[in-house]
Amino acid sequence: MIIVGAGPAGLSLARTLSGSRTEITLVEKQPREQLADPRPDGREIALTQASIRHLQSLGAWERIAPAERHELREARVLDGASPFALAIAPPARRTSHLGVLVSNHLIRRALFEATEGQDGVTLLCGREVRQARADSDGVSVRLDDGTMLEGDLLVAADSRFSFTRSALGMGAEMIPTGRNMFVCRVRHAHPHAGIATEWFDYRRTIAMLPLGPGMSSAVLTLPHEDAKELAALPLAQLGPQIAALTRDRWGWIEAVGPPV
Ligand SMILES: Cc1cc2nc3c(=O)[nH]c(=O)nc-3n(C[C@H](O)[C@H](O)[C@H](O)COP(=O)(O)OP(=O)(O)OC[C@H]3O[C@@H](n4cnc5c(N)ncnc54)[C@H](O)[C@@H]3O)c2cc1C
Repeated sequence: MIIVGAGPAGLSLARTLSGSRTEITLVEKQPREQLADPRPDGREIALTQASIRHLQSLGAWERIAPAERHELREARVLDGASPFALAIAPPARRTSHLGVLVSNHLIRRALFEATEGQDGVTLLCGREVRQARADSDGVSVRLDDGTMLEGDLLVAADSRFSFTRSALGMGAEMIPTGRNMFVCRVRHAHPHAGIATEWFDYRRTIAMLPLGPGMSSAVLTLPHEDAKELAALPLAQLGPQIAALTRDRWGWIEAVGPPV
């Protein structure tokens, strides 16, 4: 099996099938050093209880330090100026929280550590897939250094903009939304109580994802011009601007991380 892309999807699949009779070659264009120690990319991933169990079974969960796992007790969906919220809470008798939030780069690092060196998995880092073919004889890919790989199954885990998918002639409909996503870690006055908020406001959506005490990841989806203006602000002005956009729901806000 050839898997293109060692992101969370490609690594999870390779690790899940390791030790089976399937010989897996995992091709990734980033160099090994970046996979072993990925840089923070601003993404905080909400892991459900089922995802946590899966990461446990892959030997990846224990590699994420407990201090880096932030409890997600409840999620609330807000609609414009409506005072009502759709609350999504776990069934009280089964678990106290919906899941946890973990930074994407830590998930990637844990999965890489759990996968590298496993039986039946060959990792080719720093190699980009440039051609892909699939027909009744099998599959093959050509890498940027001219190497040809052949197999029975080809998995395109090279992101939503998958080169492999389009090289195989599979269409995908992309709908431009005219929006940009803006992500920044913030400190705020009011406690989040482990509640994630997704606010469908006018012209924008705002997600506040609970991290440590008094700390959240603010994820704003804005029209291009608004996102550009926000990104141009110095860090000291960013917090008050986000507080204004969130209508002071979290009290004062201070931007602490570089915006992404
Ligand atoms: C702010 C934010 C928050 C998010 N929160 C969540 C969340 O809570 N839950 C969730 O499920 N998702 C979330 N997402 C989305 C999530 O980050 C992606 O769904 C996830 O990273 C996809 O993983 P992947 O392995 O499919 O792709 P990727 O992580 O994009 O990995 C693809 C890999 O393929 C490699 N590659 C690409 N092309 C080639 C090629 N030609 N040859 C070789 N290698 C190649 C790339 O280098 C990369 O390493 C969030 C995204 C953002 C921006």
